[in-house]
Amino acid sequence: MNKLNLGWIGLGNMGNPMVKNLLKAGFRVTVYNRTKGKESELVSAGALVADSPKQLAESSDVIMIMVSDDNAVKQIFTEENGLLSASLTGKLVIDLSTVSPQTSRELAALCQKENAGFMDAPVSGSVKPAQDAQLIIMTGGEEATFNKAKPIFDAIGKLALYLGKTGAGSSAKLAINYFLGVTLQGFAETILFAQNLGIKQNDMLTIINEGACSSGVTKTKAQNIVNNNYKAAFPLKHLAKDLKLAHEQGLNTPLLSPLLNSYQDALKAGYGEDDVIAILNYLAALPASSKK
Ligand code: NAP
Repeated sequence: MNKLNLGWIGLGNMGNPMVKNLLKAGFRVTVYNRTKGKESELVSAGALVADSPKQLAESSDVIMIMVSDDNAVKQIFTEENGLLSASLTGKLVIDLSTVSPQTSRELAALCQKENAGFMDAPVSGSVKPAQDAQLIIMTGGEEATFNKAKPIFDAIGKLALYLGKTGAGSSAKLAINYFLGVTLQGFAETILFAQNLGIKQNDMLTIINEGACSSGVTKTKAQNIVNNNYKAAFPLKHLAKDLKLAHEQGLNTPLLSPLLNSYQDALKAGYGEDDVIAILNYLAALPASSKK
């Protein structure tokens, strides 16, 4: 399988370390990023560079996409020198971006028309799991395609799950990110509530992370808070996008509406490019009356 030529579009926070792991596993990888310069480190690690999605598609058996959102993925297909301007016959497109199940189905239909395969394969885990090849990959599409792509998934993750037809991967991803949103909002509100009662932030972080309420995410994000480091591993704007997508998929639980408002308001207040744990700073800056 690692004799296959892979093409990778999107070298953001996640794409970059994921490509490094594919190269380490012995895959031949051609990369493309809209903004030039992000590929230079990967070139040193052995990657080839394409000038456009079209050129990348022409030299790849499997085309992998890891970009921001629904519009970005669609644009990569339809723009001038986009994927659809290449011959895709016999190729496989794997979209690892977090998008709506509907977008995944539309892209699968486009690929089918071009006699190409398609899988939605969004990932759970942020930059550190991406660096350590410890991502969880949630896939939708044909099971036979999943089995063929499994060695690729094994090079970037610790677990790849086949969940059902096209859109199943995207659906599972929206569900787990809803849980992430609830967890981070609760974490931030708890720290601020304790602080208002006179409990030091570090003490509250210790109480949370030494007890049954701790999780991988509370431990990782506690480090960000302690180090006052809000540089994005997972930008807040992406979680705001995912909660909106979950809402559009019919999620209408008691918590969803206030959660969605909180992240959308944090986005409007300028925290979108910060790490998602900047929700703490957004909440801390609210006037006292809005905290009630
Ligand atoms: P990121 O750092 O913001 O990078 C976004 C990438 O998308 C960049 O390469 C960007 O290119 C590209 N892009 C955006 N709009 C584009 C367009 N119209 N045409 C072509 N390329 C475009 O994002 P990320 O953190 O790597 O996340 C990528 C995806 O994975 C998102 O869907 C996110 O929700 C999901 N995800 C992220 C994490 C995480 O912890 N970061 C974890 C799991 C899943 P430029 O360089 O030109 O801007």
